[in-house]
Amino acid sequence: MKLRTKIQIYASFTVLIVILLINTAIFYLFMKISLDAEVERARAETNVIMEALASNENANVTSNTLLKAYIPSNGMIRIINKEEMALEAITKKADYYSLPLTYVTTEKREIIEGQDGVPFVMISIPFIWENGEVVTLQVSEKLTAHQEAMSTLFLVLLFASLIMIIPAALGGMVLGNFLVKPIKELTTAMTENQRKGKWKKIRLKGKSKDEIYQMGSTYNSMIDRLEESFKKQEQFVSDASHEFKTPISVIKSYTQLLERWGKDKPEVFEEATAAIRQEAERMESMTRQMLALAKNQREEDLRFETINLVHLVQDVIRTFTVTYKREITLRNDLMHTTLSCDKEKINQVLYILLDNACKYSDQEIRVSLSQSHTVAKISVQDFGDGMSDSEVNRIFDRFYRVDKARSRETGGTGLGLSIAQFIVHAHGGEITVQSKEGEGSIFTVNLPL
Ligand code: ADP
Repeated sequence: MKLRTKIQIYASFTVLIVILLINTAIFYLFMKISLDAEVERARAETNVIMEALASNENANVTSNTLLKAYIPSNGMIRIINKEEMALEAITKKADYYSLPLTYVTTEKREIIEGQDGVPFVMISIPFIWENGEVVTLQVSEKLTAHQEAMSTLFLVLLFASLIMIIPAALGGMVLGNFLVKPIKELTTAMTENQRKGKWKKIRLKGKSKDEIYQMGSTYNSMIDRLEESFKKQEQFVSDASHEFKTPISVIKSYTQLLERWGKDKPEVFEEATAAIRQEAERMESMTRQMLALAKNQREEDLRFETINLVHLVQDVIRTFTVTYKREITLRNDLMHTTLSCDKEKINQVLYILLDNACKYSDQEIRVSLSQSHTVAKISVQDFGDGMSDSEVNRIFDRFYRVDKARSRETGGTGLGLSIAQFIVHAHGGEITVQSKEGEGSIFTVNLPL
């Protein structure tokens, strides 16, 4: 069964049940109120009869005659003695004689069902009869008009319930359409995307930002992310294969050279093996960095811990000073030295920036730590080659190198800064660069404290 039909059936059925419950409640409430009113009316009539009998004690009129004057058109008056015998039974209809005879010592009001299903109201009151005996005055009245009114009300409510099915079904249909339409649009878009390899999104309507709107918007952002990551992946594969092309062709041509001249000319042998080793090392380092980049793709993989930023920077500087024999100074203006971050990843960022500063400059390198509001700043300044504005705009792109030839000498892959940028962004920070050709560069990493 289709979702739309299901919603329509459930909605109509629920509304119908509610209407039936309400109408049943109305019916029984009305019945109770009107029966109570009938009982009160019968009790008032009985009172009038009692007063008439009491005031007749000294008159000449017989009780029978008097009672006949008060007989209800649809009922009966009886005087019942202790033995439950009717001393008087006055009625216009013989059928009523079958009504139960009860002697009471206290007032009794009841509704009893007649043989034809029509109820009777029956008031029984103890009363002192003319011979001084305590008897029961019983006044019964058939509630024909009440029964008719209840039957009419029943039919009206039943008819109203049936009529209400139409708007309920229409409402169910509108609700079904309202809910199913966006789901259908979503399914169509997904099917089309799957079949044609597209990245189609759905149109979002309405400003209410309800669950259906949210579902559409989540789907659209998911498509955006998928498209972006698919394109990135495509780009990455094409960039990577392009980058591998050069070392592979260098290795290939040197191998051919070796095959031809390697045995006879030792200088060719040496040059070729050195070049092949260099290219192989480059490929190795590129593969390592590509793996690092792939590993850093998931922000959820960050393992946050509280670290002392000054100690971390001091450790990295010490390693570089010893390994590269370079002069690296540190200036610390941090007031708040602890930071929550992934220690290993921030270490990696510092390695990339210091490695670049060492590679692309020969003079001193200045590292400084400062703070503005809730941001810790790490700056790495060198006085080397520097870059033009157009170059600066591209250095965070994967595999981008300003001077390919120079970069090949230094073993650069063009992946370092894109890894650094990804890590800093994953920490909610940002990385910026100021550079001037021939004067040097300052790379600044801002991390939230
Ligand atoms: P690489 O492995 O080539 O250094 P990076 O992504 O780290 O890759 O850097 C990209 C390019 O940006 C480098 O090839 C270099 O041309 C330029 N670059 C990076 N850092 C500096 C710097 N401190 N001074 C001058 N140029 C730099």
